[in-house]
Amino acid sequence: MSETLKERKEKLFSQPKNGYDRMSKQEEPKMEAYCTAYRKFLDNGKTERECARYAIAMAEAHGFTAYHRGMELKSGDKVYTCNRDKSVMLAVIGEKSLAEGIHVVAAHIDSPRLDLKPIPLYEDSELAYFKTHYYGGIRKYQWVTIPLEMHGVVALKDGTVVPVVLGEGDEPKFVITDLLPHLGAEQNKKPLGEAIPGENLNILLGSRPVGGEDDTDRVKFHVMEKLFDKYGITEDDFTSAELEVVPAAMSTEIGLDGSLLGAYGHDDRVCGYAGLQAILELEHPQHTAICMLADKEEIGSMGVTGMQSAAFDTFIHDLCDSQNVPLRECFENSFCLSADVTAAYDPNFPEVYEKRNSARVNYGIALCKYTGSRGKSGSSDASAETVAFVRRVLDDADVVWQIAELGKVDLGGGGTVAMFMANRNIATLDAGVPVLSMHAPFETVSKLDCYMTYKGCKAVYEA
Ligand code: MN
Ligand code: MN
Repeated sequence: MSETLKERKEKLFSQPKNGYDRMSKQEEPKMEAYCTAYRKFLDNGKTERECARYAIAMAEAHGFTAYHRGMELKSGDKVYTCNRDKSVMLAVIGEKSLAEGIHVVAAHIDSPRLDLKPIPLYEDSELAYFKTHYYGGIRKYQWVTIPLEMHGVVALKDGTVVPVVLGEGDEPKFVITDLLPHLGAEQNKKPLGEAIPGENLNILLGSRPVGGEDDTDRVKFHVMEKLFDKYGITEDDFTSAELEVVPAAMSTEIGLDGSLLGAYGHDDRVCGYAGLQAILELEHPQHTAICMLADKEEIGSMGVTGMQSAAFDTFIHDLCDSQNVPLRECFENSFCLSADVTAAYDPNFPEVYEKRNSARVNYGIALCKYTGSRGKSGSSDASAETVAFVRRVLDDADVVWQIAELGKVDLGGGGTVAMFMANRNIATLDAGVPVLSMHAPFETVSKLDCYMTYKGCKAVYEA
């Protein structure tokens, strides 16, 4: 029987389809339940420390135990380790030897934000402020005139670590002020990137003085008194503090159809949660499954808690020791899905995207063969064979996926943890959820893409 022209064309041409035309109706309640649980993760994790703590609580509820060096491990065992309260690694020991490699999903749980400077508190014109230093790639103009919260820790000289949460729930929130349009004529002429200088990102803390008219710094004193009463901290303690200013908004459904999710910190908690939820459900994977929730990706993956830290190698080395397998043998047979978000095509800004190669909302988890900028600079560029492996794994598991680049070639770019995994001699491919207004205080993703990313992570662990 000869093919008709139409059949032949269908066979030869790629047929991209909206995920809602590909996902079975029976999966929709699962998608909704998954997204409801993801929203809880977001609302309980506005900093990397909070995400790490919540992830560990989830892991323990699913039978994971804290790993100790030298622990005997057998297939099916579930362990986790936490690096300095900011990064979590989870493992489910596989049926196969570690010599046959691990299957890793690596995501990051830090997000762009405003950190406090080491000497943050001051008073000006009888108003009290905190000076901030932004963390990661932010568009500064987006952070003014929105309600803000502060989360973090103050480490005291005696070693006590005091957790601090200010502005949550019904508590008073914070704000960075901006010019009124009536006086904004000069500011209006500036490029967006210059209109709000970094040194203007000062958090308004209060206005009510204490003490008598002859006293000085009365508002600053009031603020410091409140902090002392609540947390027992003094101004010098800011020196050894990590206080992060984050948007006060909670996650919410977006759109009349409720098909999208708006929240702070989708990048990259949306993939972190996908990798986490998927590993919690694993029972007896062939390869040892590893979920890596890294810190410091937004500033280059440096530092003891970033993906470049030896903490990852140390943990896998320890696991390998339990089977007398050399780490280098494990790594060279491993696969890593670098699970990080990418830019979703935004019809409001068609000029920055190359439409044929852009990730689209509701087209599923987006694979990125390479990231980087211009001539793929700073990209690990996965091999064709690695992409083929992932195509097969995702198709076999009915995962809706797409392949994409970030935007127009000459315009910009970005990186993920992929290169740091690939540098370890682990075959690595980027994949993740397409995001609208990525790195904004309030980012938007589609429920279908979130769910498909979770399914994709599960398929990789189980491959
Ligand atoms: Mn990211
Ligand atoms: Mn990012």
